[in-house]
Amino acid sequence: MDNEIENRYSVITEKNKREIVLIRGNGCRWRKCRFCDYHLDSSTNQEENDALNAVEIGKITGIYSKLEVINSGSFVDLSETTMNRIVEVCVEKKIAEVHFECHWMHKEAVALLRKRFADLGIRVKIKIGVETFDALFRESYLMKGIDTDVPAEIAAYFDECCLLQGIPGQTAQTMTRDIETGLEHFDRVCVNIMQENGKPIKPDPRVIEAFVKEVYPKYKDNVRVDILLENTAFGVGGVTTNAK
Ligand code: SF4
Repeated sequence: MDNEIENRYSVITEKNKREIVLIRGNGCRWRKCRFCDYHLDSSTNQEENDALNAVEIGKITGIYSKLEVINSGSFVDLSETTMNRIVEVCVEKKIAEVHFECHWMHKEAVALLRKRFADLGIRVKIKIGVETFDALFRESYLMKGIDTDVPAEIAAYFDECCLLQGIPGQTAQTMTRDIETGLEHFDRVCVNIMQENGKPIKPDPRVIEAFVKEVYPKYKDNVRVDILLENTAFGVGGVTTNAK
């Protein structure tokens, strides 16, 4: 199953320099987002996940003392064995800051994770996929599952947000507004440009063109903004087959 993903470890050498590892858990528990097929990278066999994850975690060198762990879901989907291995490698490689991702439904688990790492002197940053701060659009169209329309309430739990752009209904103005709201409330913003997949929501070429012409130039050099024009831009991911 793993040979579907071309690469699970990479080093990001621009902006927020860090290592990034794409590991596997037992699957996003939300799974309703109408644009998402990432959650297909999962297995209910946590022993297989642990074996795969151990190989990828073993590649971490600590080069920038910062590590981002992503798993196509939330950190709560990772087994305790894998989480223990991450903790060990953070200590071994002197990682000072570790990033995880998490859905809104698991927000109450964030404080405990922060404490677990803080006890070892390691900062935790949690990223949430907000996609847009237009709550009606987000919940009626994207089905994101965030039951607040107040950005500050989201930022009370999470440090970084992902935005999904390049989809029907967006304009340069609404995309810019979302990025500005993200920058106002969060440490960092990650803009993902919609990629075609088997899910109902499709990229809108006119919206992507508007992004590239009017939005991208404003933020491409902003150190607090990551922009993924391709979803493999961080050097991880890349599906080679559709066997699953
Ligand atoms: S929460 Fe994340 S992994 Fe789960 S369905 Fe939504 S986008 Fe996909």
